[in-house]
Amino acid sequence: MPTVDAGDVATSIYEPRHACPSMVDRIDTCDVLVVGAGASGLWSAAELAPDHDVLVVDAGEVGAGASGDAAGFVTAFSDWAPSPDAVAHSIAAFRALDGRHGFTFYERPYVELARTAAEGAALRETYDPLFERPGYDVEYLDAAELSARWPGRFDLDGVDGGLVKHESGIVAAEAYLHALASTARECGVRLRTNTTVESVVVEDGSVVGAETPDGRVDADVVVCTAGAGTGPLVEWVDLPVRRFVYSNLRVEADAPLDDAYPMVYADDVWWRPEPGRPRTFLVSGGTYFLAPDDGPPRDPPAAYRREVRTVLEGLAADVETATAVPGSYQPCTTGCVTTPDGLPVLDAPAAAPDGLVVATAVTGGISVSPFTGAAVRSLVTGADPPVPLAPFAADRFDEPPADFRVDGIREPLSGANPDSE
Ligand SMILES: Cc1cc2nc3c(=O)[nH]c(=O)nc-3n(C[C@H](O)[C@H](O)[C@H](O)COP(=O)(O)OP(=O)(O)OC[C@H]3O[C@@H](n4cnc5c(N)ncnc54)[C@H](O)[C@@H]3O)c2cc1C
Repeated sequence: MPTVDAGDVATSIYEPRHACPSMVDRIDTCDVLVVGAGASGLWSAAELAPDHDVLVVDAGEVGAGASGDAAGFVTAFSDWAPSPDAVAHSIAAFRALDGRHGFTFYERPYVELARTAAEGAALRETYDPLFERPGYDVEYLDAAELSARWPGRFDLDGVDGGLVKHESGIVAAEAYLHALASTARECGVRLRTNTTVESVVVEDGSVVGAETPDGRVDADVVVCTAGAGTGPLVEWVDLPVRRFVYSNLRVEADAPLDDAYPMVYADDVWWRPEPGRPRTFLVSGGTYFLAPDDGPPRDPPAAYRREVRTVLEGLAADVETATAVPGSYQPCTTGCVTTPDGLPVLDAPAAAPDGLVVATAVTGGISVSPFTGAAVRSLVTGADPPVPLAPFAADRFDEPPADFRVDGIREPLSGANPDSE
């Protein structure tokens, strides 16, 4: 029987939602119900499957949320630099999954460009824990060294240098999710798609299952990995999150790109080659908070398109004029959520009923999805996590304002996206 250390919970505050449980329609029973078949939920399920009966449900299909829209840059993003063991755990997992169920992990360095020496020094300081970690290969190259490493690929006027993270790679989101779902099934996980969890059911201070439109699922533990849909399911927890979008565009390259071309970041724009498509870059960026009632923009925001043009035409020698491939704009269909410090909530919160585990607001959440799964396993079983989970506690903030800011995410495009062209 899985146990969750949810702290000292006063059971009397949790009223059963249904007075006559025996009258309730049950559609399934499991030890652990995972809500959300994105990268976080599928890894959590696979981690728990060896010693639990695990059911994953998703309101849509596998990858219906942010995971299915991801651009597939896998690296240690700066928020994760203080947790090198979480990064290393994840990279090892991507390497282990490579070649299984049609999935390929394309090993590719990730280069983060710095315009000035001061920016370069700040990058080195941020990533110091990775420089320090044995076995993690990272270096800072000046502009001349970058040009020598990738001859003819970059115009580096006005660039001091770049941090090169070698333990990085590219994934195709669809293939990744397919491989995760197949791996989870192989481990005995059951998946139920097109099933929305409407609420978590609690009796006597403990989770006993969840309600869906088809009936109840009985479960000793409910793991909420529902991305932007997590908040309404965990009413006991004050989740400090704001919704935002990322955007992807495909841009034509003037010359074929070879396997040596790295992933690159500069000035809020990420670009990478696309294995199997030698004449295009996948470009990510355009991160904006969403106003409470707004959905993602229908068209690429003009500011994002200008940024893509400026950065690629300025720095990528293979792009004379940045031309977007028609129809390639891909925002988050469901939106993403972030916390004030950019780190996720990975917790069995003391304020919640026993048996409720929350794993949400994972930005760069493809890159660390294996770690998220391991963290969830430790929250359910009490096993040691790859890194201490205190930095991810739900109650680590002192009531942040609802409109808190986060570096790198712009304020909302108002109304019906007037910033689009
Ligand atoms: C355009 C874009 C580009 C990105 N690029 C990258 C990248 O290059 N690298 C990277 O590391 N990260 C990237 N990300 C971020 C990454 O995709 C997310 O951090 C990650 O996918 C979050 O995974 P998740 O499983 O936690 O959430 P999601 O993938 O959002 O999964 C949540 C799931 O829960 C389901 N759900 C929600 N509510 C309910 C409910 N009530 N009942 C049942 N099911 C429910 C949803 O249908 C969904 O399938 C990108 C995101 C976007 C949108």
